[in-house]
Amino acid sequence: MKRLAGILVALLVSAGALAQEKAIPPLDVPMSFSGTYGELRHDHFHSGLDWRVGGRIGDPVHAIKSGYVARVTVGPWGYGNGLYIVHPDGTTSVYGHLNCFRDDIAKRVEEAQFAEESFSVDLRFAPDEFPVERGDIVAQVGNTGSSAGPHLHMEIRDTEEDVSLNYLSRGVYKPVDKSAPQFHRVCFYGLDSLPVPDTWRVHNLTHPTEVRDTLKLPARSYVAIDATDRQEGTNAKLAVEEYRVSLDDSLLFAFKVGDMPAAKGRYIKSLIEYRESRRGGRDLVKSRVDPNNLLADRITARDDGLIILGDDAVHQVRLEAIDEHGNRATVRYRVRRDESLVAPPRDTTLNWTSWLWYMQNMVADSTMSYFLPAGALYNHINFSWKKIADPDPSRGILSEVWQIGDPDIPLQLPGELEIAADVPEGLEDKAYMASYGKTLDYAGVRVRFGTYCVALDTIAPTIRFQDSKAGIVNGSTIRIRVADDASGLESARVEIDGKFYPAMLRGSVVSLELKENRVKRGSHILTLTVTDLCGNVARESRTFSY
Ligand SMILES: [Zn+2]
Repeated sequence: MKRLAGILVALLVSAGALAQEKAIPPLDVPMSFSGTYGELRHDHFHSGLDWRVGGRIGDPVHAIKSGYVARVTVGPWGYGNGLYIVHPDGTTSVYGHLNCFRDDIAKRVEEAQFAEESFSVDLRFAPDEFPVERGDIVAQVGNTGSSAGPHLHMEIRDTEEDVSLNYLSRGVYKPVDKSAPQFHRVCFYGLDSLPVPDTWRVHNLTHPTEVRDTLKLPARSYVAIDATDRQEGTNAKLAVEEYRVSLDDSLLFAFKVGDMPAAKGRYIKSLIEYRESRRGGRDLVKSRVDPNNLLADRITARDDGLIILGDDAVHQVRLEAIDEHGNRATVRYRVRRDESLVAPPRDTTLNWTSWLWYMQNMVADSTMSYFLPAGALYNHINFSWKKIADPDPSRGILSEVWQIGDPDIPLQLPGELEIAADVPEGLEDKAYMASYGKTLDYAGVRVRFGTYCVALDTIAPTIRFQDSKAGIVNGSTIRIRVADDASGLESARVEIDGKFYPAMLRGSVVSLELKENRVKRGSHILTLTVTDLCGNVARESRTFSY
């Protein structure tokens, strides 16, 4: 019994020691960020820190704490090359956009790519395969995946829960930050008094701190804020930790990012003013609170965040943006009710109906039906639809073209769309639901609000080898241009001398890296097979030597 207690004490002591292991920065260069936790990124919150590396690829990436490499992922988008280290304190550190992994890990990735005959892989490792000490080099900084320049994306997750932890607000990393956030744009929107209100933009303040006039507002309105944070030594526009809106010094709305579980983060479209987000630029946080918003646990609101003016007196709206180090920016507006401000008239060429967010909703018209499941809407909406064009065989459009809802209205879930079409016999698998515009893009049958039709794609993709005097190889890299002008590219497969070789399809380029241990110096035949989303196939071969 006494011995058991001794072991128990030893276990507790070692667990305590591990829990106290301090995270070190993953890079050797001075700490500076181009992105921070909680930035608004249209359909998600940025869930980590983007470490600046001065535009270089290849800097070493260190394990921030001891543990083991539990997972690596390779793919054309997202993290590109991603690496996950599980730590004994219950956290997992994630490193994204890596140029390459440490040699022994890279070897396992390569073996898996050939074994699975896939460029993209997702590999899990046992704790004894790649153990790491704090500070060990595990990879190189890169620019792979959805990255617009060399940097290290790093996040720390709770290993058990699907939540990333805010390490700046926890003070684990301490950049110099004495600068307050900055307001870039403030918009006010009116709500009319229909049972399901329409909303419209009343003010668009692009120099929000320079407004001196009293702003006229309808009786019911809300405000949306574009603000970002600054830190010393970087021009980057970083995350604001907390937004606050007050009316006459009484809090109307507050949102604080906190630690954001990924499942909740997907409700960002009910936090931002979506119609501005769709027009590009940065997102604005809106004070109006939607009933179907899982982020409500980080929101404090009165009157659903609405500015309600019950008299004609001058009132004050105060906006605050606060960063994770407590630096605060404030702007104040004088506002006054003006009941002549009303919603612009509705487009009467559209069909209208009201949809309630907690119901399942459906519309059926001559050749179209659209079904939206319960929980897809964030708020009640006025839904509109219209037939906008007839079939156009010259463009491969087999059905009538339908406008389904207002694409400025965000959805948490897509709906199911059916459009009747005259598909020539034998070509059923070459017909697809297309989003309609200058081009016809593959949409699938589950779609958000937009304009759609059924289109036909019987044309194979095109392959363009970059022929030159040097052939198709540049050093040890091969890049081949591919295109599909209808449904779009689905997959690309490369074979060298008749055997699979991993190649990345990204946008309109297929690229691969020749490795001497896999392809001997000399002359070889490369065959590329490209398939579009309707199953049309193109295949071409070229001889190359390197
Ligand atoms: Zn990032």
